[in-house]
Amino acid sequence: RAKGQGRDGVCEFSAAQMQELEDRLVLGSRLREAITRNELELNYQPQLDAADHRVTGFEALVRWNSPELGRVPPGRFIPIAEALGLMPEVGMWVLDEACRQLRAWLDQGFGGFTVAVNFSAQQLQRPDIAGLVAAALSRHGVPGHMLEIELTESSLMENVERVQVRLAELKALGVSLSLDDFGTGYSSLAYLKQFSLDKLKIDRSFVKDLPENSADSAIARTIVAVGHELKMVVAAEGVETGEQAVFLRQIGCDELQGYHFGRPAAAADVAGMLPRA
Ligand code: C2E
Ligand code: MG
Ligand code: MG
Ligand code: MG
Repeated sequence: RAKGQGRDGVCEFSAAQMQELEDRLVLGSRLREAITRNELELNYQPQLDAADHRVTGFEALVRWNSPELGRVPPGRFIPIAEALGLMPEVGMWVLDEACRQLRAWLDQGFGGFTVAVNFSAQQLQRPDIAGLVAAALSRHGVPGHMLEIELTESSLMENVERVQVRLAELKALGVSLSLDDFGTGYSSLAYLKQFSLDKLKIDRSFVKDLPENSADSAIARTIVAVGHELKMVVAAEGVETGEQAVFLRQIGCDELQGYHFGRPAAAADVAGMLPRA
């Protein structure tokens, strides 16, 4: 308990700051080895067509099972990986593993769906990112149109002009681009049209209290309207109830994702949900 220690107020770490420092030191050193020691895994969560509930794709979500630390959630280790500059490496592992899994599914006769991977700001800043994505696709023989890349508003806002070039290069590979957690960042609507994005994902904080909460339903309707106006597919994340699914469908949302339809699970456990080509 460091808070409040030192009569002259020199040591004013809060408990949360202490935890963060400790995490950086402990998790950081373990994380460096996690990739080579095969401690990372991808889970897959289904994404459905809002109209007929057909599975259209899966989002790949990274999991870290550390023998020393147990299961560390991505919300805890990704910020640290970012801060330590390890995210490009973790991100490359995720991309390669998602493509490898997609190839395995294609070989088993499945197809007609997408796999979405999340990209960090650092990944998007790499000048060679499109080349790395192209290499991963060709290494595993995966067509670009089966891959989706999820980006956040804040990662688009760093070096806007450079990012626009990177996005155009990625689009040229046939991959589609989604804006994740939409509505929580500080990008303005004016920025939206400058990026060639294919999909908006309504952040789950706006979905949580649907359909009762009138402010959230107004926000959801507005995002659907803006997205469609800009020729984008609109998806909702964090759909936990049937009422939310019905409401989102009513307001014109195109795709749904959330615990109501399926939690993120190991590749073997989503096999029953895979569409046949
Ligand atoms: P995200 O990309 O927005 O992913 C959705 C998160 O919401 C996932 O948490 C998922 O498990 C959770 N979720 C899905 N449906 C529901 C629901 O109905 N209710 C609730 N309460 N939660 C739901 P997860 O797997 O813990 O990931 C958290 C975040 O970590 C992700 O948010 C993403 O920003 C980041 N992340 C995960 N994997 C990767 C990765 O490979 N690379 C990067 N850069 N970030 C990743
Ligand atoms: Mg999809
Ligand atoms: Mg995502
Ligand atoms: Mg999200």
